[in-house]
Amino acid sequence: MKAVLDHVGIAVVDLAAALAFYRDALGLHVEGAEDVVSQRVRAHFVPVGQAALELLEPTSPESAIAKYTAKRGPGLHHITLRVDDIAAALAQLKARGVRLVDEQPRPGAEGALVAFIHPSSAHGVLVELKQTRTSAHPAPDSGLQRDLVQRFTVGDLELLSLSDGFLRLDGGSMFGVVPRPLWSAVMTPDDRNRIRLAMRPLVVRGVRTMLIDAGVGDKDGAKFQEVYGLERTHHLDHSLAEAGLAPEDIDIVLATHLHFDHAGGFTVRDRTGKVRPRFPRARYVVRRGEWEDATRPHERSRASYLADNFLPLAEAGVLELVSDDQTIMPGVRVTRTGGHTAHHQIALIESGGRQAAYVAELIPTSAHLPPAWIMGFDLFPMETLAAKKAFVQEAESRRTLIFFAHDPAVAAGVLTNVDGKTRLEPAQA
Ligand SMILES: [Zn+2]
Ligand SMILES: [Zn+2]
Repeated sequence: MKAVLDHVGIAVVDLAAALAFYRDALGLHVEGAEDVVSQRVRAHFVPVGQAALELLEPTSPESAIAKYTAKRGPGLHHITLRVDDIAAALAQLKARGVRLVDEQPRPGAEGALVAFIHPSSAHGVLVELKQTRTSAHPAPDSGLQRDLVQRFTVGDLELLSLSDGFLRLDGGSMFGVVPRPLWSAVMTPDDRNRIRLAMRPLVVRGVRTMLIDAGVGDKDGAKFQEVYGLERTHHLDHSLAEAGLAPEDIDIVLATHLHFDHAGGFTVRDRTGKVRPRFPRARYVVRRGEWEDATRPHERSRASYLADNFLPLAEAGVLELVSDDQTIMPGVRVTRTGGHTAHHQIALIESGGRQAAYVAELIPTSAHLPPAWIMGFDLFPMETLAAKKAFVQEAESRRTLIFFAHDPAVAAGVLTNVDGKTRLEPAQA
């Protein structure tokens, strides 16, 4: 393992006094601060040659740094070594019996991935490993994998297209009656005939903070991950942290439908093995008919509805079923499209005279814009056809900003009609 000293973390009680020493007395340059929401600290970086000092100021009494200084006062807290491949480094250490605080990397400052080694294995020093985003080895053609947050504004609302990584689904199933020579020219299949699809939940920030869909989540085993070709080295936790959001910040979770690639991230398995809601303060809004279909699946739908993704919401009392098209929070309305499932719904977002839409499986990727390019997964494809044609016509005339749930390259775009043909102009975040 090649490791380079990245920085030395110093726990601070009185930031002004610390700056008076490091900045004023030593004459060092203090860079801008960064809030690491997941750790409840504000980090002030002080470059010293190739490495840096990191002054750590707690932003909450609950923060590990606050607890540390309460016990021991201010002082040296940790050293951080930068590695190329943090997952490989952790596996190597684990194999040697090194005690790890974090067995999986988690999001740190500046979009890095970090993990701590327990001081008892590091001779009394808390050692942090870090893989910066630029030192990551992205998978071949990973495209926007590291583009964890794309920000857009619609009127008074802020829309954040997030990433829960990628999955692979059978190319034939993704395009229904469209023959392979046509779809494979648009989306290249792998050697198992699968195509690579992004999972892009959307955050809407207005009077409330809403998360629409939540990706596949972390509860599934190795076989599931292999079958669906999951690539989640960067996933929703990283994306939320990069957006400056903690799970507690989400007020409403809205489900377009309850298939595992949209609802898997609604719940987490805790240390005791119990599955619980992932967003502790959120109410979860689900269409009543979709809930009934998901909890009573049939032979054709069973593989897509995994009870652990949604039953714990009812048990925890955070489920809210809605029966009709309606406003869920100011500016966000749900409307049933059917098609993919009988009660599949999309979110129409409106503010300041502009419209955006999170279209979920109505148009999962920009390759699904032509009317007949409908997924074989859809239970009611003729309903998809009608709903898609109506939606596309309105979206063209209103210049609706369309957010895709599965497009591997484009998070959002606007439709234009050129000589009777619908075209997508990708939107710049
Ligand atoms: Zn689906
Ligand atoms: Zn899907």
